[in-house]
Amino acid sequence: MRLSRYFLPTMKETPSEAQIVSHRYMLRAGMIKQSSAGIYSWLPMGFKVLRKLENIVHEEQIRAGHVPMLMPTLQSADLWRESGRYDGYGEEMLRMQDRHGRDMLFSPTAEEMFTDVFRAHVNSYKDLPLTLYQIQWKFRDEIRPRFGVMRGREFFMKDGYNFDLTKEDALHAYNRHLVSYLRTYERMGLQAIPMRADSGPIGGDYTHEFLVLAETGESEVFYDSQITDLKFGDRAIDYDDVAQCQAVLEEFTSRYARTDETHEADEFAKVPEDRQRVARGIEVGQIFYFGTQYSESMGASVQDSEGNKVPVHMGSHGIGVSRLLGAIIEASHDDKGIIWPEGVTPFHVGILNMRAKDEACTEACDALYDSFKAIGLDPLYDDRDTGAGAKFADMDLIGLPWRITVGPRGLKNGVVELTCRRTGESEEMPDAQAVEKISQIYAKHRVTGL
Ligand code: ATP
Ligand code: MG
Repeated sequence: MRLSRYFLPTMKETPSEAQIVSHRYMLRAGMIKQSSAGIYSWLPMGFKVLRKLENIVHEEQIRAGHVPMLMPTLQSADLWRESGRYDGYGEEMLRMQDRHGRDMLFSPTAEEMFTDVFRAHVNSYKDLPLTLYQIQWKFRDEIRPRFGVMRGREFFMKDGYNFDLTKEDALHAYNRHLVSYLRTYERMGLQAIPMRADSGPIGGDYTHEFLVLAETGESEVFYDSQITDLKFGDRAIDYDDVAQCQAVLEEFTSRYARTDETHEADEFAKVPEDRQRVARGIEVGQIFYFGTQYSESMGASVQDSEGNKVPVHMGSHGIGVSRLLGAIIEASHDDKGIIWPEGVTPFHVGILNMRAKDEACTEACDALYDSFKAIGLDPLYDDRDTGAGAKFADMDLIGLPWRITVGPRGLKNGVVELTCRRTGESEEMPDAQAVEKISQIYAKHRVTGL
């Protein structure tokens, strides 16, 4: 993309309404625009990162054997009356009536809707196990929307639902989700720690929240510092292998890690003192096993191998896709702007033309731009005829991990400058070498999505 043809309304001034760094940078980098409290327009670059996150989530869910689909955002209240949550959900649910006076609502989550689809089409244990999911907008009328996309009212969420014949199978689905979430967050450049959590209004005994450590996090967390040394990495995993998934769960959840809701001082005291940590975290996902609660109230059952009708065991599993943008920026920035991890960056590399009026510079930049596109990478080419200061400031603010600066002096010596946003280190090299280096870096960060 040529910057002169893009829409990237960056701002120098810090917007006064933004209290935390991710919100400030998302506004300043022209990624979002507030439309009303907790509701945002996604400007091109914000939308681009949101799609990247969505694609990573799809890839990892599909890899785990889960099936994507899409539910309506507006749902009939009758369905929610069946589960008892129409009255139970409280004021966070946005309710409305259609022209015929029928009660409707904007989905804050979708257990009822998925259970309804399931009971309409699945009758036999032979069709199980089944995990269906969607990535769809949700609305919760939060009492205090704040921190930009972190606590919005309208937000983008992956929600998945497993349907299993037995508790044992459903617990395997739970473990499978835990493993797939670990992979998902790591690909986004994040460490998200599974912590034992409280099940709240969804109910059930088994639940973990995934938290990204950050000072601005809304949850207080207590953990054994050994947990931050764990990496999922590139290990191969067979998602159908019950023992393998169970082993990963044990590895990542056996140390003390709790949110304030489940914290127990006596248990925490058993962690060696030099490893006890109290910090803050951002909840970026949660997994639940809740048994037959919804399947019983909504009549979602199958015939087992002996012909008996039995309610299915279920769980639900969420990832806060739009909140993740904020969490990634909270975890990765400096005082000049965002530092995108390679896996989610809106553009792979920035090309800075230091002298837009110089023919040699422009030719070299055009050639670099074409080379990147030819190998399937996505460069952002700052071809504007503006001062170097403004170009550097914008590039730092929007935070592309790599930048190539092309100037007349370097070109005379046959080199361009390649700079790493995270370390600030620069290296001069021939343009072909810079393209090769960037290509290698991104070889393991290709995302195809659905
Ligand atoms: P919270 O405790 O932060 O209100 P929750 O536990 O009610 O969240 P879940 O129902 O578990 O949320 O939803 C799954 C994920 O959706 C959460 O882990 C979080 O990342 C995201 N999420 C929830 N509420 C919001 C919101 N208001 N704005 C943005 N993301 C949200
Ligand atoms: Mg939650």
